Amino acid sequence: MRIDIISVVPELLHSPLQHSIMKRAQEKGLLEVHIHDLREFGIGNYRQVDDYQFGGGAGMVLMPEPLANCLDALMAERTYDEIIYLTPDGETFNQKIANQLSLKENLILIAGHYKGIDERIREHYVTRELSIGDYVLSGGELPALVVVDAVGRLLPGVLNDETSALFDSFQDDLLAPPVYTRPADFRGWKVPDVLLSGNFRKIEEWRYEQALKRTRERRPDLLPPEEE
Ligand code: SAM
Repeated sequence: MRIDIISVVPELLHSPLQHSIMKRAQEKGLLEVHIHDLREFGIGNYRQVDDYQFGGGAGMVLMPEPLANCLDALMAERTYDEIIYLTPDGETFNQKIANQLSLKENLILIAGHYKGIDERIREHYVTRELSIGDYVLSGGELPALVVVDAVGRLLPGVLNDETSALFDSFQDDLLAPPVYTRPADFRGWKVPDVLLSGNFRKIEEWRYEQALKRTRERRPDLLPPEEE
């Protein structure tokens, strides 16, 4: 999968992609992330990318021309499945959307800044708008990284069996059960006996019950009516 991210602060994007699972995904050739500095498409000697908003009011807006030129250059090279704008008024990003996006080949993520991007880019280029939650961040870089990580870890071969995404929260509309590691007794706080029993059927049953209990307590909205 290839993901292109367009940003005015590309420096924010590099480090999180150079470690751990995202680094491995790229090294294995399963994920390509290309970061584009919008200023390279800026206008005039100062590489201007933002301007005052029509109608007055505080806050700058990312101009349509640099964004359109950057998008046109990318779209001339390949076909994109989705052009996604990260925005607080978008559809709330969740595991189902991450699953859907993980099946795509080429994605563009646009990180906004200041007051956001000119509405005409949203109308004429953007195919999907995603929010990572009901709060406002300074820029779309962190949301873009959230999407890259959530989607990238689902690509076949990125996670090994031990960390398989199938057992994570939300994959089956259940939260994940509790997990423990050594020592079995820490300050007198004991690991549940069943996990030390070696009885894999019983362990699976226990994990399912715990997942159900946790989901009922914390996120009953995820359960079908008969399980609530
Ligand atoms: N004026 C916009 C509004 O009220 O909806 C907020 C603009 S915000 C300060 C600047 C940029 O950060 C946005 O263009 C968007 O790309 C990004 N952003 C901020 N919060 C976000 C969120 N919850 N989800 C996705 N992107 C977000």
